[in-house]
Amino acid sequence: MDSTTTVSRTQSFIDLENEFGANNYKPLDVVLARGQGVWVWDVEGNKYLDMLASYSALNQGHCHPRILTALIEQAKKLTLVSRAFRTDQLGPFYKEICEMTHSHSVLPMNSGAEAVETALKAARKWGYQIKEIPDDMAEIIVCANNFHGRTTTIVGFSTEQQYRDGFGPFAPGFVIIPFGDAEALEWAITPNTVAFMVEPIQGEGGIIIPPSGYLKKVREICDRNNVLLILDEIQTGLGRTGKLFAEEHDGIESDLTLVGKALSGGVYPVSAVLSNKEALAVFEPGDHGSTFGGNPLACAVARAALKVIEDENLVEKSLFMGHYLKESLRNIISPHVKEVRGLGLMIGVELKKSAGGARKFCEALMGKGILCKETHKHVIRFAPPLVITKEELDWALERIESVLLHH
Ligand SMILES: *Cc1c(COP(=O)(O)O)cnc(C)c1O
Repeated sequence: MDSTTTVSRTQSFIDLENEFGANNYKPLDVVLARGQGVWVWDVEGNKYLDMLASYSALNQGHCHPRILTALIEQAKKLTLVSRAFRTDQLGPFYKEICEMTHSHSVLPMNSGAEAVETALKAARKWGYQIKEIPDDMAEIIVCANNFHGRTTTIVGFSTEQQYRDGFGPFAPGFVIIPFGDAEALEWAITPNTVAFMVEPIQGEGGIIIPPSGYLKKVREICDRNNVLLILDEIQTGLGRTGKLFAEEHDGIESDLTLVGKALSGGVYPVSAVLSNKEALAVFEPGDHGSTFGGNPLACAVARAALKVIEDENLVEKSLFMGHYLKESLRNIISPHVKEVRGLGLMIGVELKKSAGGARKFCEALMGKGILCKETHKHVIRFAPPLVITKEELDWALERIESVLLHH
């Protein structure tokens, strides 16, 4: 073949994305074609350890056989009826997720951002109906450096300039306070406050862990002021931090908990709002909905994904392997590392400014067969599937060490 006309398989796929796609992402230049468990393969046949796990959507690992079987079997039977009719999957899904998470009720959606929007609507309506706040006066408190998704309402209360620039005007009714500061919450609450929404650990914000006891204080302040506590556990939930939900580290229960990502094991977009209080009871027929929300394929997949978390003890594995990974990373004495922090298998390695940004470390790791992604410029996030073994972590640690020492 004439070498001047040869374009690598990788480059030909990248060219297609660049030619026809909107330019809203800047992925690493690896083109993946297959995944199994913690491993993925690119179109050239190279194998990589996936230490990002699609931002925790793949807690159960790529292409988990039990989840795939549920998907395929259900796909042959019934995929969508819209919520105009009932199915034999929705009720059992409700029962199983409520029992597993000790929730009273559930509202299924598709993406994480939709679960967030659903909770915001529920909280506002609860505020008007139950707390009797004057019309259109509801306030919801959120934290600086948050990440709750990309809809216009949600980016309106982001403090990340790029997420907002060019997308206004934004919805009113949101108040921003510093993350990890319970006193700031106390000060921000007014008679019109309906809810405080927070991530137990800020994932996209750079794996930021609040002071210990933060959520406990927040729970107490919300109770005392009749304010709903909404925990966005879309990333921290379903085992990621070594508990089923990160709220358990503080021994509290939210009023509304948002789940997504690993709810389907990365197989299908499924999200949900879980409620421990009357907040979801304010919805009446016609108030809210989604054509695909709660469809039988999504329910069958989510039921299998939840069973896998339970049957394979992924919560305990996350705690144990997370501890091992964090301590091993801390034992790497690198001139570039400022701090290693995390809970369970949600770990961030913050580099010193002098290291020149995390991106080039992620690219070097890719060259050694490890896929991960920088977050907030200076943090390398390690969040592999929870099915990862100690041997696989050791394999990764050897390569991480060489990159942190020699780059
Ligand atoms: C990913 C994420 C979301 C948004 O989920 P999408 O499915 O991308 O809409 C919301 N909150 C948190 C904490 C997340 O990590």
